[in-house]
Amino acid sequence: MRKDVRILLVGEPKVGKTSLIMSLVSEEFPEVVPYRVEEITIPADVTPERVPTHIVDYSEAEQTDEQLFQEISKANVICIVYAVNNKTSIEKVTSHWIPLITENTDKDSRVPLILVGNKSDLVEHSSMETILPIMNQYSDIETCVECSAKNLKNISELFYYAQKAVLHPTGPLYCPEKKDMKPLCVKALTRIFKVSDLDNDGILNDNELNFFQRVCFNSPLEPQALEDVKNVVRKNLIDGVQHNGLTLKGFLFLHTLFIQRGRHETTWTVLRRFGYDDDLELNQDYLFPPLKIPPDCTTELNHNAYLFLQSVFDKHDKDRDCALSPDELRDLFDVFPYMPWGPDVNNTVCTNDQGWITYQGYLSQWTLTTYLDVQRCLEYLGYLGYSIIAEQESQAAGITATRAKKIDLQKKQTQRNVFRCNVFGDMSSGKSGFLQAFLGRNLMRQKMIKEEHRSYYAISTTYVYGQEKYLLLHEVFPDFDYLTDADMACDIVCLVYDVSNPYSFEYCANVFKQYFMDSKTPCMMIAAKSDLPEVKQMYACSPLEFCRRHKMPPPQSFTCNTAAEPNREIYTKLTTMAMYPHIIQEDLTSSTFWLRASVGATVFAVLGFAVYRLLLKTR
Ligand code: GDP
Ligand code: MG
Repeated sequence: MRKDVRILLVGEPKVGKTSLIMSLVSEEFPEVVPYRVEEITIPADVTPERVPTHIVDYSEAEQTDEQLFQEISKANVICIVYAVNNKTSIEKVTSHWIPLITENTDKDSRVPLILVGNKSDLVEHSSMETILPIMNQYSDIETCVECSAKNLKNISELFYYAQKAVLHPTGPLYCPEKKDMKPLCVKALTRIFKVSDLDNDGILNDNELNFFQRVCFNSPLEPQALEDVKNVVRKNLIDGVQHNGLTLKGFLFLHTLFIQRGRHETTWTVLRRFGYDDDLELNQDYLFPPLKIPPDCTTELNHNAYLFLQSVFDKHDKDRDCALSPDELRDLFDVFPYMPWGPDVNNTVCTNDQGWITYQGYLSQWTLTTYLDVQRCLEYLGYLGYSIIAEQESQAAGITATRAKKIDLQKKQTQRNVFRCNVFGDMSSGKSGFLQAFLGRNLMRQKMIKEEHRSYYAISTTYVYGQEKYLLLHEVFPDFDYLTDADMACDIVCLVYDVSNPYSFEYCANVFKQYFMDSKTPCMMIAAKSDLPEVKQMYACSPLEFCRRHKMPPPQSFTCNTAAEPNREIYTKLTTMAMYPHIIQEDLTSSTFWLRASVGATVFAVLGFAVYRLLLKTR
């Protein structure tokens, strides 16, 4: 909402502009008035809407046209004052004042107008008959009011309407000609309805209505008031109330009624609570609250945000098969202005036999977004109404910035839950197969993936000593010219070569020597396509020898050409190395580790033992 309101009074001389202002301030009619009073500021706590309000007078005798134009462009609302007993002053409203204001205001920022008929004490008849046609002709006219500075009639009302016209304008909400809410307003309220319909049955039941009432107005609805509301809707609409709850139709009807009865501040309160600005767009502060991520830290969702996302999943998984069908997914993202997840997401996370994103896959994708693009994650949480439904200060409350990696390494422990593994390898060495196998897909299943739907990320969970951790695999484009610093920033590196292609190892050796030989990031050599006959690599030394020289674990045989799901052991290994990089470094120097590691199958057992021993030592 606005920080302050600036009200300008214009109109012909002697209609009573100055008197109106002085009557408001002194609560009595001033017999003698100057041509013009200085701008006055009413402090927030004495105005009905609790917003500081500036009232500005105008006098033709004291001010130039230039000054008038300036004041018009600065005003948030303009009261055009006429005297009800002075026909010329009424005619001038349309012949002079409205065109003048239109010329001097920005076309995009609508300035509401209020027609003020002063000196009502001097006539018996109302001027409304003359005024109503003008009101219908100009949609910028918010309202009209007759008053008397002399009798103090409708004076505070006049300024209240002016304040309200700025703070709660009807323009964006309602179309007076059609006598209906505007499409953008219907769209916003529909989204609010869907977010508030916690069980997604299309009806706001008493619980949901009470929650809604509490988050919007900070007070619960009395049981009787709740019934009254439903009865009003019942009386006017056949399908506004169903199963003793409010349908979307009923909800929209109720708001139309509020607006028609001049209670549009109620609708505005709801809209603003759900993040909308005066143009009925979700405002930037709501979607992108300030969030400071220090360097060397990564971003994760916290427990509370996961719980919320779980509830969103549950409310849309209508058939309870723990996966989102295309329809269910569309329904889930119906509160978004666009579909955030493309078909590539289905190849980034786990899916079921039908290719639908599973519960686990859904949480994985959220984890990925949070890790790679936290601003986007905040935006998405905003669309889902996280801060409102989970009753948090802002979307940022769902995000944890992890401790700096440097400190984790120093302290030799980490609280992080998401680890990034960048996968390097020459063209067609088997990188994509390595990523897809993590999602449980063998070679046959991978062949069904359309080229345009492929993903360069794969994320899923692994268990490391009983703790569930996310491992994020990223396939790095092999061209050296395209490699960036971002490609180097990760917790563990995989170097993939094809055992059946004698020219594939050299690439791994080059990447390692150029980028990782002197870095602290642990590296793992993957001997992919191990189902094919192994050939000698065209390189100065064998991969095994290379690994030994550079104190890396020996190459890990891997294949995704399996009948069932590919083996997941390697991913657990990678996550463990990512979590405990120092242990790897230490143990790699010990010859016993090397001996046992080369046996291959026992690597994990040894690793496990090493970690266990270290944990005991630190206790
Ligand atoms: P301005 O030029 O528009 O600022 O008008 P003023 O405030 O100077 O008022 C012009 C004259 O109208 C003064 O003599 C006021 O006393 C008188 N006047 C202002 N308001 C009223 C009103 O509500 N009723 C009556 N009867 N006279 C008013
Ligand atoms: Mg005056």
